[in-house]
Amino acid sequence: MKLCMIGTGYVGLVSGVCFSDLGNDVICVDKDLNKINNLKNGIIPIYEPGLEELVLKNTKSKKLTFSNDLANSVKKSDIIFICVGTPTKKNSNSADLTQIFGVAKELSKLINRFKIIITKSTVPVTTGDEIEKIIKKKQPKNKFSVVSNPEFLREGEAIRDFTFPDRVVIGSNDLKSNKILKSLYSPLIVKGAKYIHTSRRAAELIKYASNSFLATKITFINEIANLCEKTNINVDDIAIGMGLDERIGSRFLRAGPAYGGSCFPKDTKAIVSTADKFKTNLSVIKSVIKSNEDRSKLLLKRVYKILNNKVKNKNICFLGVTFKANTDDMRDSSSLTMIPELSKKGALIKYFDPTGFKNDFKKYKNVQYMMSIDTCLANADLIIIHTEWNDFKSLNFKSLLKSKKVIIYDMRNLYSSNKMNKLNIKYFSVGRS
Ligand code: NAD
Repeated sequence: MKLCMIGTGYVGLVSGVCFSDLGNDVICVDKDLNKINNLKNGIIPIYEPGLEELVLKNTKSKKLTFSNDLANSVKKSDIIFICVGTPTKKNSNSADLTQIFGVAKELSKLINRFKIIITKSTVPVTTGDEIEKIIKKKQPKNKFSVVSNPEFLREGEAIRDFTFPDRVVIGSNDLKSNKILKSLYSPLIVKGAKYIHTSRRAAELIKYASNSFLATKITFINEIANLCEKTNINVDDIAIGMGLDERIGSRFLRAGPAYGGSCFPKDTKAIVSTADKFKTNLSVIKSVIKSNEDRSKLLLKRVYKILNNKVKNKNICFLGVTFKANTDDMRDSSSLTMIPELSKKGALIKYFDPTGFKNDFKKYKNVQYMMSIDTCLANADLIIIHTEWNDFKSLNFKSLLKSKKVIIYDMRNLYSSNKMNKLNIKYFSVGRS
């Protein structure tokens, strides 16, 4: 099939590449000319394991192309995926749909034959209705169908998640587009993906409800971890004990810093805002948002306690700053709250992340990127393990640490407290006494 992805970010690029690998002709469009030129030259704009190989393979076979010519790309394609951003609005919790509606307006002028227009972006319930209204102003109803096909891929696991999804959700109000999309996804369905056809509004809400539920699970175990710290219990035992109950499941039950990333913070806020519009109080999700916002402050308080409130001129080393491992995405990472706050208090911060230097910390003069773990750890008074990269999971602290006074605050529980005690290292973790 002939597909056009509008927006070549994490979602548009990964799904475009994977669709091309399944044998479709895919054009990935972006208004960012620099990004498109780089992609044409094999330069991948994001860190995502396995992506580069697939881009090179499918550009070579010409199944995958990149363009900033929206009009031509749309005209050549049968199925259009909208994959642009839906960030939180400034000064409000609702989703900013400017990019979505901008694309819808463009599309309304470009439809030359029947097109399926799909929102892969995460959009609030009823957005599909709005897109339909915009296009209807310029096109007859029989020339297009607006469908919701939310994307559930996780950054860092995106290729695997796209290729072996738990489910494919298609929200369409007509059977014709459902039939075409079932056929598009058939290579994944035969490998075991469940295919669900719902109303367009239901598909839109499935995405927000899923993300909010996962955010709730993380927040739940984070709060239980707070209780564990006060009662001399290991939260990892609680997570195992709970997770073995099939009704609960063990995933997303790892205590740690506040959840971050480009989805959970914005999607929890957006669903609450949408519900408010429909006069429905999503009180559980509201508490999750509040608890998560408080979490970085809470972990910072613990840092102050560990340092006996003497933060000024302390050398603090951050291992990892991205919101999770295997991605370079810094959006809403808890390090963005913690590092500036510690820097303001006069700490001297060095950080190392496998995905390199981060512009986000450029403006802080006492925050420095280090090229290696060793140089980052050198002279540290406190090491904060912030992100669960494999690179940090089996460090030989005995040889790496020059001073016995170094303190480790492991926010990901990568090490065992016993092992650290045996090494005589002052070690703190999350949800353990
Ligand atoms: P992103 O910011 O990485 O990429 C969006 C891209 O769209 C950018 O490259 C931007 O230049 C481009 N763009 C914006 N307007 C455009 C236009 N008019 N024409 C062409 N290109 C345009 O965003 P993302 O992380 O890929 O997320 C996209 C959507 O998918 C969001 O709604 C997000 O919530 C959802 N989503 C994201 C993930 C994830 O893990 N990142 C997972 C599932 C769903």
